[in-house]
Order: sequence, then C-alpha cells, then structure tokens
Amino acid sequence: MTDFSPQSSQRHREENNLCASVASSVAGGKELPDWLNPEPWLNLEFSAADVQRAIGADSPNEKTLAALLSPAAAEFLEPMAQRAQAITRRHFGRTMKLYTPLYLSNFCNGGCLYCGIAADRRAKRAVLNEAQLRHEMQAIKAMHLEELVLLTGERMPEADVPYLEKCVSIAAEYIHNVNIEVFPMAEAEYRRLADVGCTGVTLYQETYDPAVYEKMHRWGDKRDFSARIDAPGRALRGGMRTIGIGALLGLADPRHDLLCVYRHAKYLLKNYWQAGVSISFPRIRPQLGGFQPDHPVNEKMLAQFIFALRICLPEIPLVLSTREPRRVRDGMAGLGISKMSVASKTTVGGYGSDSEDSTEQFEIDDNRDIPEFCAMLRAKGIEPVFKNWDAAYREPARYASQKLTSSFPA
Ligand code: SF4
Repeated sequence: MTDFSPQSSQRHREENNLCASVASSVAGGKELPDWLNPEPWLNLEFSAADVQRAIGADSPNEKTLAALLSPAAAEFLEPMAQRAQAITRRHFGRTMKLYTPLYLSNFCNGGCLYCGIAADRRAKRAVLNEAQLRHEMQAIKAMHLEELVLLTGERMPEADVPYLEKCVSIAAEYIHNVNIEVFPMAEAEYRRLADVGCTGVTLYQETYDPAVYEKMHRWGDKRDFSARIDAPGRALRGGMRTIGIGALLGLADPRHDLLCVYRHAKYLLKNYWQAGVSISFPRIRPQLGGFQPDHPVNEKMLAQFIFALRICLPEIPLVLSTREPRRVRDGMAGLGISKMSVASKTTVGGYGSDSEDSTEQFEIDDNRDIPEFCAMLRAKGIEPVFKNWDAAYREPARYASQKLTSSFPA
C-alpha cells in the first residue's frame, strides 16, 4: 500500500477532457489534424537519384524524409549512416546522454492490446510507497545516474497526480533531472509537477493512425486520440522544459507514423521554441498477453528510420532504450542516437526495493550494467554523459506570456 494519499481522479479526468482541442466521441476524438497529416508525402514514389539527393539535403523537409523512409532508401544504408554520423558528431560531439526509467506503479485500468500490464492481464501489481521510493532513489544515485524517468500506468487511485507530485518531489531530492512518462494531464496538473521539480515529459502517441489507435486501445481514457496528441503542448505550457515523443513501431505503417512524428516535432519546435524536443524509437517487445505487431520493423528498417530522422532533424536528441538488443544499441551509438537508457528495470522498483517481483510492462533486451555499457561506448570513442546541466535547470519554463522578440534590426 502506498503511504501517499490517493484522491479521486474524476475531477482531473474532466479537466483533462476539457483541454482536448477536438471534442471526443465515445471512442475518443480521432481526427488527425491537418498540421500532422502525412498523406501528401506518403504515397510518393522515389528513385535512387531522389534518395541520394535526400541524403545530402541541406534543407530537409517532409519530402526529404519520405524519400529516406521509402523502400528505395533501403539500398543506401551505408551513405545514410555516414551522413547521420557526421550530423550527430557536429551537434552532439562524441557523447551519449544516459538515463534510466523507474516504474512507480503498474496499476492500470487501460486496455492497450500491446501492453503486459493492461487491466485484463493477470499481472502482479505493485506501487512504491515513500520508503520504497527512497530506497530506489538511493540505489539509482549509487549508480551515478543523474537523469530519471518516473513511470506509471493510466491515472489510478493508486497513482494519481498527488501521488506523482509527492514522488517527483522525493526523486528531486536525489536527482536534478526528473522526468515523467505517465498519463496525459491538464496544463495545471503539469504545472503542479513542474513546480516540485519535474523537468520533462515523455508521451508517445503510440500510433498516429486513428483507426489503428482505436483498435489498439480497447477501453479507458487512452482512447481519446486527440487529447493525447495535444498533451505535449499542455506539458510545455505547464512549465516542462523537455518533451519526448514517438510512435510504438509495429502498430501501424511505420512510414506513416514517422512522418507524423516528424511533423509533430516541427510543430512543437515552432510553437514552443525554447523547449527541448526528443524522439524515441520504441519497437513492440514480447510481453504478457503475447501481442504480435501487424507491421513488424526489423533491425535494418529501424536503422534506416533512425538515420532518416537524424538527417531531417539534425539538432533533436534521438533516443534508443534497453528494449533493443545490445547489437542494435552498439551499432546505433553515435550513428544518429545521442541518448540511451541504461541498466533499466520495467518492474515496479527493481533497483533496490523488495517489490521487484511485480509484472514487467515488457521485456528488456540489453541487460548490461553501467560499467559494461560505458566500456562499450568508450571503446567506440563515445563519452557517456551522466549530467550536463545545473540546478538552475529546475526552474519551470514559462511560455504562455512570452512573445517572440528579436534584437536584430528589421
Ligand atoms: S500502455 Fe500504459 S495505459 Fe496502456 S495498458 Fe499499458 S500501462 Fe496501461
């Protein structure tokens, strides 16, 4: 049992729903807004010459990305890797930012088909109490990690906003860079978490295909497609400094979803120009429930997609987690990817507490400890980075009242 005081989540749900820019139906708002629509580029055909031009593009756009994601580009992995590596070195040096996830709770009333802790799984449930969380934080701190992502399932009485507020404030006593990967919230709720030390939010859309989205999310708040699309903007207006987006590769046509991810990132960068936007490349992993993807993405395709996004979004951190096998992570380090999780656990706690026998959300593949993983990076000439900011970073970001001004003469 948690020591923290759970409160009814109904009021927060209502507030959250009010914030969705598109009204939701029973099955949830399910329109793909124009600013995300990838259709104009999705069915273009590209020649080898088109792909070669795209690899060298100075001002990449949606058409560039569509060419690099296309089947025609699969024959150009080597030159794509070389360009991706050069861009990565120019913008991130020979470094790799490290972070680790910490599951606070695996209680969930959601019905996501691809998830090992969905409500209808016979999962062992657990939620960290304050003493357990402090134990976990001490164990993570002892590993010298300085960036943390706190995770839960859907909004539940066991893990609601007041619980998260308490967890963030405790985690922030130990680690400066505390992020969350939880349920979508209202702007005011994000503000509450930013005020106690939360600096960033990770929120994958899972898929940007409304029909697939509806099929994958059988019930629960997560069926509201549009509320989820709008959540990154709410998080940034609520004071978060960084936002991580992505699609769960395998659910729908990955080219469709990655064009949407690109457009989503560009939209956020344009509208929240001070924010840090990152993109992750999660693939479906084995999980309790045995879901198999309709659009499997093999390792070669994953590499192509990472190179394509790196070439088209040179300055954005690209993230690869321990979901991936070590050969993929070793191969991608420095070739586009600039941030990786390490020593991850996907059970509740698992770093130091006695609740590590809870069911994991999915299996992780790269189980190396930090010394072994850092040795691999250094052997490739890449320096692991545990911390690259100072305490001033904690100050919540303020966007709403700011106007873009320029000191340059007209
Ligand atoms: S993906 Fe998240 S919301 Fe869906 S069932 Fe799993 S924990 Fe719950």
